[in-house]
Amino acid sequence: MSRYSAWAVFKNGLSGQKSWERAWRDPEPKTHYDIVIVGAGLHGLATAYYLAKNHGLKNIAVVEKGWLGGGNAGRNTTIVRSNYMMPGNRQFYEHSLELWEELSHELNYNVMFSQRSHVSLLHSPAARDAAARRYNTMRLTGSDGELWSLETLKSEIPHLNYDNARFPIIGAAVQKRAGSARHDAVAWGYARAADQLGVDILQNCEVTSVTRDADKATSIETSRGTIKADKIGFAVAGNTSRLWQMAGLGRLPIETHKLQAFVSEPLKPLLDQVVVFGVGGAHFYISQSDKGGMVFGGDLDWYKSYAQRGNLPIVQDVAECATSIMPCLGRVRLLRHWSGVMDMSMDGSAFICKTPINNLYLNAGWNYGGFKASPASGWYFADLIANDRPHDTIAHMDIKRFERGVMIDERGAGPDPKLHG
Ligand SMILES: Cc1cc2nc3c(=O)[nH]c(=O)nc-3n(C[C@H](O)[C@H](O)[C@H](O)COP(=O)(O)OP(=O)(O)OC[C@H]3O[C@@H](n4cnc5c(N)ncnc54)[C@H](O)[C@@H]3O)c2cc1C
Repeated sequence: MSRYSAWAVFKNGLSGQKSWERAWRDPEPKTHYDIVIVGAGLHGLATAYYLAKNHGLKNIAVVEKGWLGGGNAGRNTTIVRSNYMMPGNRQFYEHSLELWEELSHELNYNVMFSQRSHVSLLHSPAARDAAARRYNTMRLTGSDGELWSLETLKSEIPHLNYDNARFPIIGAAVQKRAGSARHDAVAWGYARAADQLGVDILQNCEVTSVTRDADKATSIETSRGTIKADKIGFAVAGNTSRLWQMAGLGRLPIETHKLQAFVSEPLKPLLDQVVVFGVGGAHFYISQSDKGGMVFGGDLDWYKSYAQRGNLPIVQDVAECATSIMPCLGRVRLLRHWSGVMDMSMDGSAFICKTPINNLYLNAGWNYGGFKASPASGWYFADLIANDRPHDTIAHMDIKRFERGVMIDERGAGPDPKLHG
């Protein structure tokens, strides 16, 4: 397959754009693969890519019940940041941000990663102290982070509600290397790059059961037939508990919740950062897409469900947050809103780990935050599957941490999945 380049754009322009090749193949399922990854979201596709690229493995398939990138991969608000503080999380998300910085070149696909700054608004001296601790920890461990005074914030983002806010703004915690990316492009980029390395991406191929022989998974039943596999990895986000039960493993410390996202009609350039507002029960994040739409979201829908649609009270809640922090949005029309299914863990952190079945591996529990994690998640999940042992960086991301009583509770919110946004 040819590389994308300025020359290729020029050459295809001369032939009326008719000579572009397919971005990835549409193969028939084989009866056996060395490795099968279930779920062609960002984590599954990235895993397949790094299995082939970093570990030189062949005979890999990604099976997807719908179309690739049709789950949370294509439904998120695309915020990328690494302002995590807990040991383990800190290193993991920083590695992920470093991978983001090179991703377009790595994949030969423009994922439109825009390091436009992530700005968390601060509303009290206590919040500023907590942010100072977090952002100093980030700086001490090789990342970037800074605190902005109110004056700096006003000059950088003039349109916020500085005069009449229910919670007055006193400054902001900022990570300048953070930003946003084009979610579809990330899925397409990983898919194309994995396909080039020989990975079969099998769409419209739903896994309906997992066949076991004692402590080994031998095959999966799919809507396109039986597929035998030496190793199987689950990367199915909000459907993790369903797959876990298909494997006969009972219950997981995960709940499935819905999260909505919203986009407005396109506007002229208004906001050149990702802004986060979270105080007094409010939770709101907003950025402007390259097409001009204001992209924003808020809290979970507050009840468990596998349905990929949201409820109206959250629409009102998010609209109230929007107008409270950016009153200038009051007359802007909403273009679309949609929902994805979140795999919410009890402590808000993820799982990349082995399972009680010897050749079955789990990648799950990304909550609201798996978009930013996807490059490192694929990188470490591939490493785990290839070497059959966790890398030091993800050794703490196992389900047994609940047996050990060692949570990775980044927000200090306690064992309630709904609160780990
Ligand atoms: C509204 C919203 C906003 C978000 N905002 C952000 C954000 O700003 N920043 C951030 O970092 N994260 C964000 N997230 C979270 C992020 O999108 C997810 O954590 C991440 O995409 C999950 O990983 P994934 O891409 O692999 O999941 P998915 O794309 O959901 O992939 C899982 C795939 O598994 C497939 N599957 C399920 N069951 C089966 C089966 N039985 N057989 C075969 N295939 C199956 C599904 O069809 C799906 O395609 C947001 C999520 C949502 C919904």
